[in-house]
Amino acid sequence: MLAEMRETVQRNAPIHTWFGVGGRADRLARPGSLEELTELVRRAGEEGQRVRVLGDGANLLVDDHGVDGLVLTLDRLNRVEAISPSEPGLLRVGAGANLMRLVADTVRDGLAGLETLAGIPASLGGALVMNAGGAFGQMADTVVAVHTLRPDGQPVSIPSEAIAFGYRHSGLENVVITGADLRLRPTDDPAALRERLKEIMAYKKSTQPMADRSAGCVFKNPTMPNGERVSAGMLIDKAGLKGLAKGAAQVSPVHANFFVTGGGACARDVIRLIGEVRRRVQDHHGVLLEPEIAIWTRTGLTWEDIAA
Ligand SMILES: Cc1cc2nc3c(=O)[nH]c(=O)nc-3n(C[C@H](O)[C@H](O)[C@H](O)COP(=O)(O)OP(=O)(O)OC[C@H]3O[C@@H](n4cnc5c(N)ncnc54)[C@H](O)[C@@H]3O)c2cc1C
Repeated sequence: MLAEMRETVQRNAPIHTWFGVGGRADRLARPGSLEELTELVRRAGEEGQRVRVLGDGANLLVDDHGVDGLVLTLDRLNRVEAISPSEPGLLRVGAGANLMRLVADTVRDGLAGLETLAGIPASLGGALVMNAGGAFGQMADTVVAVHTLRPDGQPVSIPSEAIAFGYRHSGLENVVITGADLRLRPTDDPAALRERLKEIMAYKKSTQPMADRSAGCVFKNPTMPNGERVSAGMLIDKAGLKGLAKGAAQVSPVHANFFVTGGGACARDVIRLIGEVRRRVQDHHGVLLEPEIAIWTRTGLTWEDIAA
């Protein structure tokens, strides 16, 4: 096992993200089994190394100087299995499963529940951490339990009721998610379910710049003093910031809360653009936006330091 694991850990490895910018991981491992993952987490815990989990990189910006510690990518832990023959909608899914494929496969199998997440690029683990979703539903809607590892490698399963799922939030940021049990609903009208999937995809394509390099919404929609949640994109747009650029990173002219990267962009272009938009929205509306995307920097450095 140890020799195998040494081969698994790559040094100075690239980190794939949808932004297509950013630095490398000092150490990156792509475990092929739960046992191997557990051992990697346990050893990193013993050595006091920080562990970060990379999903599909669709909500992530990595600083140009890369990251220390150990990055784990779980794309090989992607099994989908029925838990019980008597309950066809009850599935156990590995954290590395690709969400878009899972949506397509479950809809094809006549299982409803995940079609609301159509068009959201993610691994299951990333979708759980972010409680990914939108106008039609959110990841939490189908979750029965989430399976995690503690830093000492002990497995802990958390029932959905005990998870602080909220708007783009789960409280699961600091654990390693290995998978989840999901409850979907077998439908007696598979054609209507397929139609619904198409409608949701069409809505998404018409409202978001899906073809550009981005990480989806950069900022969370803030809650105003009267308790109302308002669109961060609308605040950015009203502050006149659509199209604003730093280097080769730009506020999308299509959707103001999507920042897009062009050829030659670097992570610090995006970080500086985030800082600039945040300052200008605060000046214009008196609202401090909080990033929805995860921003990875080396220990001791924050994205705010870089943006200042
Ligand atoms: C074009 C586009 C459209 C998008 N549209 C939407 C949308 O409509 N709604 C929406 O909610 N989001 C949207 N997003 C954002 C993104 O798809 C979601 O946030 C998604 O959940 C990210 O999942 P991921 O696997 O890519 O996570 P990553 O970006 O890889 O990681 C995000 C965070 O999750 C953590 N993480 C990932 N996997 C695990 C794991 N197994 N264990 C512990 N932590 C983990 C990471 O450490 C990181 O902190 C969009 C993104 C793009 C590029």
